[in-house]
Amino acid sequence: MTSDLLVVTALRTEHAALRGQVDGGQLERCGMGPERVQRWIRSRGETLRPNAVVVAGVAGGLDPALRPGDVVVASEVRGVQGRTVLRAAAPLVAELRRLGLRVHHGPVVTRDRIVGGGDERETLFATGALAVDMESAPIARSFAARGVPVAVVRVIVDTAAVPVLRPATVTNGVRALHTLRRLGPVLTSWAALTGKRSVVLAEPRSFCAGVERAIDIVELTLQRYQHPVYIRRQIVHNAHVVRDLESRGAVFVDELDEVPDGTTVVFSAHGVAPAVRVEADRRGLTVIDATCPLVAKVHAEARRFSARGDTVLLIGHAGHDETEGTLGEVPGRIQLVQTPAEAERVAVDDPTHVSYLMQTTLALDDAVATVDALRRRFPTIEGSATDDICYATTNRQGAVRELAIEADVVVVVGSKNSSNSLRLVEVAQRAGVAAHLVDDATELLPEWLAGHTRVGITAGASAPPHLVDEVVGTLRALGPVEVTERVHTREDVTFTLPKGVAG
Ligand code: SF4
Repeated sequence: MTSDLLVVTALRTEHAALRGQVDGGQLERCGMGPERVQRWIRSRGETLRPNAVVVAGVAGGLDPALRPGDVVVASEVRGVQGRTVLRAAAPLVAELRRLGLRVHHGPVVTRDRIVGGGDERETLFATGALAVDMESAPIARSFAARGVPVAVVRVIVDTAAVPVLRPATVTNGVRALHTLRRLGPVLTSWAALTGKRSVVLAEPRSFCAGVERAIDIVELTLQRYQHPVYIRRQIVHNAHVVRDLESRGAVFVDELDEVPDGTTVVFSAHGVAPAVRVEADRRGLTVIDATCPLVAKVHAEARRFSARGDTVLLIGHAGHDETEGTLGEVPGRIQLVQTPAEAERVAVDDPTHVSYLMQTTLALDDAVATVDALRRRFPTIEGSATDDICYATTNRQGAVRELAIEADVVVVVGSKNSSNSLRLVEVAQRAGVAAHLVDDATELLPEWLAGHTRVGITAGASAPPHLVDEVVGTLRALGPVEVTERVHTREDVTFTLPKGVAG
């Protein structure tokens, strides 16, 4: 027997909620509890040959942050026979969020009886599980063992605060079933992602030497200095890196006035203005400077150009941490120019004494257009001796440009505030291919991948390599994947550590 999508529910009410909602799919009811589930697997499940399976229904919340009506997409299910990782399910998260639902991604645990409130839920939550049900683990295990992509999607009906058999659970149950009904079309679009693909990885991608150095600096500071250790601004522009360092004791702040006197503060890879250093000194803070040496080079050039009497024009993006730092080097002597149009308008004291600098993470094409406009207006304008756009930015843009030629769609792993990641999306799009930025695999939207068999993947200089592996793992869990690398160049740049953590 074959069908494309198989949706398995336990309860009659769950089955009724999804009836008619799973277009072209097959809806099955396995019954509630481990014995019925095992019977269903033997008598029915093992005879079915679906392309994808979703176990859907209601569940109990373990994480106190979960509310009735929230949806949990399982990253893995845990049962008496062990755990089954469900990487294929990740694209459901973004698609369900688009429906306006509160969606969580994490482990779901399967128990052989209804879990009450209080201590039992706390104990299960302490293991990292978000929700508990009575059926998912054995069903997921049975189909995953046969290589079928599996997802488990549960709508929270009861929580630690309102456990089952309280009057409010009835109202919550009705709401949960209403939410469950809305999931049908999303499950169908997810199932359409299953199939064979090729993946081309850009090389280089992910961490650059400046980002690796900045993260090493924070880790060493956390080891060697008294906690709390404060970090001014995001050490690098990546949400996963920041969350990971926070979990290890780093405290991120926007400004120095949030840092208590006499404590330790790390300056981010994007650099700071001299006024920030002066303030840290005045406050008696121990400063560890993670400014990337290539950003520090741009600061030095700003001082050099200004000292010889030039007006300095900084090509960059307003509000970015790096441009704020560079602008602060020579206040009153430097102006920001963001676009060729601004280059046509910018006013300077002496058109024969003008120089320009660039933010290190610009798109090369944009920067060239702005420099050309400046050169037309100020023929004697001078830039720095070497390109300010750093090697890592240049290499990653070169690699994604080549990747775009052979891919149907390009996925760029990086955070939305990461300038160099955003530029990679733009470079790929200019090369004529659809390109999308994701923080991780849970932000992949099914419509981006549907019908595309050649997926190009790269990552911004601030995105950890393991996030790329997770995106590849998700595609691999959806069907056979052939992975190749498109090598633009290999990098071997390293930077030394600053004083305070070196040695
Ligand atoms: S992207 Fe370039 S300037 Fe920024 S941290 Fe990396 S190497 Fe340094």
